[in-house]
Amino acid sequence: MSSPPDAVWNELRRRLWWEYGLLAAWFPVIFFFGWLPQHAGISEVVAIGLAMLWILPMFLADRRLYAFPCPSCGRRFLRRGQAWPRSCAHCGLKAWAPLAPTSVE
Ligand SMILES: [Zn+2]
Repeated sequence: MSSPPDAVWNELRRRLWWEYGLLAAWFPVIFFFGWLPQHAGISEVVAIGLAMLWILPMFLADRRLYAFPCPSCGRRFLRRGQAWPRSCAHCGLKAWAPLAPTSVE
C-alpha cells in the first residue's frame, strides 16, 4: 500500500495549526478568565487555575510539532526555538518539497 507523498506535509501542517491555533486562542482565554471573577462570582484563584489549564494542550501541541520526523532522514525536522519550518535541521530537506510516494506496510 502506498501513501500519497503530501500526507507527510499535511501532518506537519496539522501540527502547525494546533500549535499556532492554541497559541492564538490563548489571548481570548486569558481575557475570558480575567472577566469571569467579576461577572460569574468565582474567585480569581480558580479563574487563574482554569486559565492555566490551557497551557497543557499548548505544551502537548508544542511537543508534537517539534517531534515531527523529517521524511528524508527521520530525525527531528525542526530545531528547538525554530518558529516555522523552512528546511530540516539535519539534512536540509526543504519544507513542502515534493516527495516520492512511499510504501507503507
Ligand atoms: Zn532531515
